[in-house]
Amino acid sequence: MTVQLNNLDLWKTSSFVNGEWEQAHSSFKVENPANRQIIAEIDEVTPEQLELAVNSAYQALAKWQQKTVDERATLLRRWFELIIANQADLAAIMTAEQGKPMPEASGEVVYGANYIRWYAEEARRINGDVLPVNQAGRRALVLKRPIGVVTAITPWNFPSSMILRKAAAALAAGCTFVVKPSELTPLSALALAQLSSDAGIPAGVFNVVVGSNAQPIGEILTTHPKVAKFSFTGSTFVGKKLLHQCASTVKKTSMELGGNAPYIAFDDADLEVAVKGAMGSKFRNSGQTCVSANRIFVHKTIHDEFVARLQDKVAELKIGEGTNEGINIGPLIEPKAVEKVEQLVNQAVESGAEIVCGGTRVQGEGNFYQPTILTGVSADMDIFNCEIFGPVASIIPFESEEEVVRLANQTNYGLCSYVFTQNLNRIWRLSEKLEFGMVGINEGVLSNPAAPFGGIKESGMGREGGRWGIEDYLETRYVCMGNI
Ligand code: ADP
Repeated sequence: MTVQLNNLDLWKTSSFVNGEWEQAHSSFKVENPANRQIIAEIDEVTPEQLELAVNSAYQALAKWQQKTVDERATLLRRWFELIIANQADLAAIMTAEQGKPMPEASGEVVYGANYIRWYAEEARRINGDVLPVNQAGRRALVLKRPIGVVTAITPWNFPSSMILRKAAAALAAGCTFVVKPSELTPLSALALAQLSSDAGIPAGVFNVVVGSNAQPIGEILTTHPKVAKFSFTGSTFVGKKLLHQCASTVKKTSMELGGNAPYIAFDDADLEVAVKGAMGSKFRNSGQTCVSANRIFVHKTIHDEFVARLQDKVAELKIGEGTNEGINIGPLIEPKAVEKVEQLVNQAVESGAEIVCGGTRVQGEGNFYQPTILTGVSADMDIFNCEIFGPVASIIPFESEEEVVRLANQTNYGLCSYVFTQNLNRIWRLSEKLEFGMVGINEGVLSNPAAPFGGIKESGMGREGGRWGIEDYLETRYVCMGNI
């Protein structure tokens, strides 16, 4: 073990199935993106173990659903408390495998845990309906039933919270759960499994399967007949394939896919608030979030002042290993992520964009790219049209509201958008006209457990958070009573 932990039980390196740690003959390696050192060898899940995971989740359904809502809520609450009690260790594991600065990792642990707390409480509010019907001797009821076994595939950018956002709602609804985390960040997921077991969540209810070959694992998780629902967070490209696979057995699906978030600062914006919002949305997790401001539209009358202020803030960012004190920008996840950002920036510059600061990778062992500001970006550049997933603020000047709304909507993605203005009428207009599942008004970081997180268009379907999040794990059943 290369990470110093207080609770050594949290360092797990094999799949967790039906309450047991499974062994296997082959393994894969996990690298620390800050220095490319191998931090762990993880046992590859076998096809038999995958089958066992789905079957034990299926078997566990009845027992989990027989528990009273109070019993389920108490177990979830205990899981939440254990996660909080182990926050420092979970953050250390996350920083080692994902690279984000320790304070961000700690924040993510709490953010994810808060979904468990929220849904432990929401479990009590899964209500049905009694409907008035116009037929004598008849009554019509609507029941809300847990959908059944849920499988999930999650990404590496938020190794803990992307799992907990799904599992919290699923378990609260009475479903059981099998998740395959990203092969780049399996350790955070396995630590959560240990804590679920410590909390007393019964065997088979929460399973984690780990493997480096995502395709065949995904095949089973999306086609197994005992699976009722599949929930995915990841790229639109992979999401579309998985959606196809789910069609073969008509599974209910939730898809949290890519984004190409517009950020719009109008000439009447409070510049300090606007720059703070841009920093939070753009540079958190080194720009590796699906809600990162991908296209920063700035009204031409405040453009130069905005860029100057942003540059001052970017100059304060400290880049380095997430375990070091005061770091704000950690590494990108893989060498190929650095190459992609490099290509996007170079192509933009060749097409006329200008580098205000940064614009190069950092030489050395880790996958670091300098925080960068690009001005003069336009809609014909690749950097405008695809997810950057790196610390590059790409700035586009605009003149009118109509023009900027048209440009902002000029994408197949529809996840998150941001508007900075003091004009109340404009706030209403844009909240309706922007084609995105989420709109931040004078705010760059929106997500919270009570609110519906999710996208439209090719950014996906379904919502995570709030009462909408639990709906995704319930089926609606009509019961008709006659001859009363
Ligand atoms: P990202 O761009 O964030 O890496 P991906 O969509 O590639 O997003 O990965 C998100 C998750 O999807 C990861 O857990 C990864 O292992 C998994 N994944 C990637 N390709 C496939 C596939 N063909 N089938 C199933 N899962 C996949």
